[in-house]
Amino acid sequence: MKRMTFTDFYGLDIVSSSREEIDGFIKDCLERDEKIKITTMNAQIAYFYLKDHSAAKAISDSFVIPDGTGLSWALKRLNGVNIDRYPGVEIMYSLCEICSELGKKAYILGGLEGVAQMAAVNLHQETGVEINGYRNGYFDIDKESQAICQRIKESQADILFVGLGAPRQEEWIYRFFEQTGCTLAVGVGGSLDIYANTAKRAPGWVQKANLEWLYRILQHPIKKFKVIFQIMSFVKQVLKGKKV
Ligand code: UDP
Repeated sequence: MKRMTFTDFYGLDIVSSSREEIDGFIKDCLERDEKIKITTMNAQIAYFYLKDHSAAKAISDSFVIPDGTGLSWALKRLNGVNIDRYPGVEIMYSLCEICSELGKKAYILGGLEGVAQMAAVNLHQETGVEINGYRNGYFDIDKESQAICQRIKESQADILFVGLGAPRQEEWIYRFFEQTGCTLAVGVGGSLDIYANTAKRAPGWVQKANLEWLYRILQHPIKKFKVIFQIMSFVKQVLKGKKV
């Protein structure tokens, strides 16, 4: 089994290995059928980790990959480490490639009606991944999740992509992963909309300038207004924290 390295974020272990090492580790887990729950953490999810007890419990029980620029900045400031960020949208693509390479199957849960299906079609075309099922992400968690888990189990999927928004998806995975029969589950948030072509990723130069988060907020300023507050609260907490 490949060894991962970690760095601390307020008591949480965050992977500091390279993306090649992370891919290798995930491949090993899938081949050995070792269960793994993945959180792709950006500043907003870090905010939930710091402020919301049930989100923190769910996130702490997962393998946390640093997704966003804000988190890279925080880890540099708090621990003096430079980590490679691995954006969730790219992790989702790599997982589809790995799935295809290993002959494993996937299931997509989340998004508005039709989004998971479109993402499934496009990801299959691009990576060859077999998607055994999908459903939208608007349901009553307490009443409908058991039946949804049963359907996922019957699909015999190995990898489960969950896009219910943060921290709903992390909490759903924490509560229901065991019942799905999958080997791996990962919260993918708005990546479903990117692969369904219902949202656009930021242009390359914006990504290079580490401003993808700002681009997303500016696309839906009213809907994302609370995200600005969450990011500011996260930044404030890190600025108060120990500096290396
Ligand atoms: N979503 C969902 N069910 C919900 C809330 C959100 O399926 O109850 C989906 C939403 O349609 C979108 C994705 O989750 O495809 C991400 O949602 P949002 O942009 O609100 O969250 P973020 O990307 O900021 O985590």
